[in-house]
Amino acid sequence: MVTLDRKDLAKYPFLKESQSYIGTISNSLDTFLESAGGRLAIREAITTLEHALSFTGREIPPLPDIPKDPEGVTIIIAAYPVSRIMVSCAQDRIFIDRLVRYQAWTVFAFLQDEDPEVKRFIRRSIGLPETGNEISVVDYIPVASRMPQEKWRLINRVVVKGNVQVAPDEYDEIVRERLRYIMARNLPLKVPSSVCELLRPAVERIKAEWQKRALEEFGQVEESAFPPCMQAILGAIAGQGHLTHMARFAISAFLHNIGMENTRIIELYGSVPNFDLRKTLYQVEHITGRGGTSTEYVSPLCSTMKTHGICVHPDNLCKKVTHPLTYYKQKKRDLNRKGKPSGENAPKQAEKRKSEKPEGQSGTDASDSIPSRADSDHKEEQGT
Ligand code: SF4
Repeated sequence: MVTLDRKDLAKYPFLKESQSYIGTISNSLDTFLESAGGRLAIREAITTLEHALSFTGREIPPLPDIPKDPEGVTIIIAAYPVSRIMVSCAQDRIFIDRLVRYQAWTVFAFLQDEDPEVKRFIRRSIGLPETGNEISVVDYIPVASRMPQEKWRLINRVVVKGNVQVAPDEYDEIVRERLRYIMARNLPLKVPSSVCELLRPAVERIKAEWQKRALEEFGQVEESAFPPCMQAILGAIAGQGHLTHMARFAISAFLHNIGMENTRIIELYGSVPNFDLRKTLYQVEHITGRGGTSTEYVSPLCSTMKTHGICVHPDNLCKKVTHPLTYYKQKKRDLNRKGKPSGENAPKQAEKRKSEKPEGQSGTDASDSIPSRADSDHKEEQGT
C-alpha cells in the first residue's frame, strides 16, 4: 500500500486523493475563487494554461516547481480544477486539447523518475494494470489513436486474447495518452454562469494570449506559401474537379489550422456546383470542432497524404518536412524573409482559378464528401 505525501499530491493533482486534500477548503466554488487562496489558484491556472498553449508536444516539458509548504501545495492542486473550469468557460476546443495534452505530458515527465510503487498506484488509479505488459484492446484503441508513430497502430501490435502486448519501456507513454484521454473525456464541464463570470478576466487574458500566439505562428493566410498538395486541392475545387473524401478533409482541416475562419472555408466550397450551404456548414464545423463535437481535427501528415494519393508535385522543401503545416510555416517564413508582399487570401485565389478554369470539366458536390472521422494518426502534429 503506497502512501502519497503532499508533494505527490501536487505532482498528480488529477488523483482523487489530491482533490480530497483540497476538498474541504471552502463551502462553494464562488467563495473559494473570491478568496485569497482562490485568486492564487487562478493565477497558477493561468500560468499552466500559458505553458499549455506554447507546449508543442514534441518533447518532455520542464518539471514545474513543487512548493514545500502546505499552502503552496494546496494552490498547485486547486489550480488543476480551476484550469479545467477556465477552459470550459472559454468554450473553445483548442484550449481543452492544449491543456490536457500539457497536463498529461507533465505527469509523464514526473513519471520518468518516479518510485515504482507510486507508478503502480498511478496506473491503477487510471484503470490500467499495475504490472504486466498488456492492456485490453478496448482501452488501447482510444490511447493509441493519438500516437502518430506506426508502431502504435493495432495492426503492428501483438494481440493475445483481446489484450495488446506493451513493452515495459512503452508503458509510461500509454499512461500519458490514457490520462490525456481521461482528462479530456469530461470536458467541457458544465460551469455555472456566475463562476464563468468571475473567471472572465482570466479567461479573456488566456484568449488574448492564444490569439497572439496563433498570429505569431501562422499570421495572415498566405496562399503562395501553401504546400503543393494543398495548392492542387484548391485548384481542383476551383476547377470543379473530382475530390476524394480525404482531400476535402485535408484542405478543410489545413485551412482551419492556419487560422482561416469557417465562413471563408465555406466560401471556397461555394465555387463548386450543387453547393449545399447547410451540409457544408455542418461538415466544416464538425472538422473544426465547433459543431458540438468534441474533436478538433488536424490536417493529415505527409505520410497519410501519400497513402491517400494526395501528396502531389512535392518540391525540394517537401523533402525536409513531414507535415503540410510545417511546410506552410517554413515557406511563409522564407517568403517574408525575402520581403515578398503578402499574397491574396485563398478564397480570392480560388475565385481567380475558377475564372481560369477550362471549359467542360466535370462538376462535383463538395457538400457530401467530408469525412466525419478523425485522421487521428497526426494528432501530435497539432500546432506544428
Ligand atoms: S510532401 Fe507533404 S507538404 Fe509536400 S506535397 Fe506531399 S503532403 Fe504536401
